[in-house]
Amino acid sequence: MIRPDAELLLDINDLHASVEDQPILKGVNLKIRAGEIHAIMGRNGSGKSTLSKVLAGHPAYQVTGGSVRYRGEDLFELEAEERARLGVFLSFQYPVEIPGVSNLEFLRVSTNASREKRGQEELDTFDFEDHVREKLKVVQMDPAFLERSVNQGFSGGEKKRNEILQMALLEPVVAILDETDSGLDIDALRIVAGGVNQLSSEQNATILITHYQRLLDEITPDYVHVMAAGRILRTGGRDLAIELEKTGYDWVDKQLAAEEVA
Ligand code: ADP
Ligand code: MG
Repeated sequence: MIRPDAELLLDINDLHASVEDQPILKGVNLKIRAGEIHAIMGRNGSGKSTLSKVLAGHPAYQVTGGSVRYRGEDLFELEAEERARLGVFLSFQYPVEIPGVSNLEFLRVSTNASREKRGQEELDTFDFEDHVREKLKVVQMDPAFLERSVNQGFSGGEKKRNEILQMALLEPVVAILDETDSGLDIDALRIVAGGVNQLSSEQNATILITHYQRLLDEITPDYVHVMAAGRILRTGGRDLAIELEKTGYDWVDKQLAAEEVA
């Protein structure tokens, strides 16, 4: 929901970033207020995942220009861990498997880390089990998944649901979901989307990075941005996603070529 007076959670100005000395982000501008859902679309290689990793503080990415303020603070002054604990959540395009660590214990440790940062008391194993069982309903997950190693042998859909479960527990302020829809069948997509919708509130914001309009049938974005060549080329409402499905991204090349000539 768009409210012009809502808190400005993320303020990205002219952001430039490189990977292995290769410039990838070339001037990203984006403002995200509490209550909003933003979709970022664009072809492969346009810089969407790079943007999310820079925001999360992935060490392989160097910020080379511009600024990002998170709730008024310089985001780049915060370590990646601190960002996560302060409410910046990134769901990965390819969730990692952690053999030998139970999902329950993993979720308990990460939940307690964020609770500590917010001045909430730590949950012991018993309290946490009750807490997590409530949250399992958000993603319609079988409690048996808690006893298994983190993501090990999980199907694509189960991994994504596990990520939404983690999000339900961490209660992030800004959630960035990178291609959470990729590889999901329609039922899993609906469950994941339902989870995101349930978790979205006036206090938080969601950035959905997606290739396909399909996810946006289930989650209605307030803004749709098209990324190309490391920046946001166009911004619109939900209609823009529908238009993109019809017209594809050919206009992107034309616009980029026209800008080079100018
Ligand atoms: P998207 O998520 O939009 O598909 P990415 O942000 O993953 O795009 O990639 C943008 C560009 O950055 C691509 O050309 C990609 O090859 C390059 N890139 C991303 N990560 C690395 C890396 N670790 N090393 C070198 N190049 C990278
Ligand atoms: Mg990507």
